[in-house]
Amino acid sequence: MLEKSIRILGAYGGKGVDINNTSIQIDKHTTIDAGNILKGIGKDAKYINKIFLTHSHLDHIVDIPFLIDSFFENREIPIKIYALKETIIHLKKHLFNWDIWPDFSQINLINKKLKAIEFIEIKVNKTMKFDDFSIKAIKTNHTISSCGYVIKKKNNAIFFTADTYKCNTIWEELNLNKYIKTLIIDVSFPSRLSNIAKKSNHLTLKDLLKELEKSKRDDVCIYINHLKPSYVKEIKKEVEELNSKYNIQLLNDGDILNLETTKKEQSLIYENSTKYHLKKIFENITSKEDFDKIIQKVQKEKEKIK
Ligand SMILES: [Zn+2]
Ligand SMILES: [Zn+2]
Repeated sequence: MLEKSIRILGAYGGKGVDINNTSIQIDKHTTIDAGNILKGIGKDAKYINKIFLTHSHLDHIVDIPFLIDSFFENREIPIKIYALKETIIHLKKHLFNWDIWPDFSQINLINKKLKAIEFIEIKVNKTMKFDDFSIKAIKTNHTISSCGYVIKKKNNAIFFTADTYKCNTIWEELNLNKYIKTLIIDVSFPSRLSNIAKKSNHLTLKDLLKELEKSKRDDVCIYINHLKPSYVKEIKKEVEELNSKYNIQLLNDGDILNLETTKKEQSLIYENSTKYHLKKIFENITSKEDFDKIIQKVQKEKEKIK
C-alpha cells in the first residue's frame, strides 16, 4: 500500500459540507498534518503512529485529539508528533492544556509505562529516514512558524509546501533537489483577493505564477491545494481558464499521487464512496426521464456499493 504513492486525505484549507481539511497519508503508519485522518482513512486510522506537522493552525491539527481518543483502549505505542519547536509549544499551550483537551503527553496508555502522545522536535533541512520513506522539513513563509516537507520514496520525491506565501527556500530546494518530481503548493484565495492572501500569508494563483519565475525546473508537476471553502468554485474556474506553460492541476480529497509518474492514480476513497455512485446516477438522468427509470438506475448503482 502506498509503496510509490501518497494519499490526499484532505485537500482543502477548511472543512466544508463536502471538502476536508489538509492531511496527507505517507504510509500505513504516517501522515503529514492531521486535518482529516479519521474520516480520510477510516478504521485503519488506528495504525497511524507518526504525524509530521507543518504548523499549528486548526485545519492541520484538528484530528489529533480525536485520533488519540478513538483508539486509546488498544494502543500499544504512543502517537509521535513531529514538529518544529514553536509548533510543539503552541500545541502544549493552546490545545493539550487540560482546558481544551487533556495533556495526553502526560497520560499513560492503559497498563503501559508509555505516554499516549510524544512530541518530537524536528530541525529544518535535516533528513529523517524511515523504513519506506525519508522526509525533510523545509522552512516556509506563513503567519506563524511553519515548514513544508520533501518526502522521498526510492528515487522519487514530492514536495508538499503546506501553507505559505512567497518564499525563496521553496524554489531553492526545488532547483537543487532533482529527486523532486511533484510539487503540492498552497493556493487559498482567488487572485482578486491578493490583499487577504498577503495578510494571511497564503498564495493566489497569480502569486504562484509570479513565484514560479524563480523555478529553474520545467519537469515538475504542480498541484495546488488548500483552497478556502468559500472560494473553491472561483479558484477552480481560474485554473480552468489558465493559460500558462505550467501544467497546474487541482488536488482533491481522496486523490492518490504516484511519486514516480507524478500522476493521480485511481482515487480509491472516492470511487468507493456513495457520493461517487450517486453522482454517476445523476449525470445520466435527464429531466424527461420518469421516476421508475431513476429508481432502476439507483438500484443498479447501489449494487456496486460495497
Ligand atoms: Zn491551513
Ligand atoms: Zn495556516
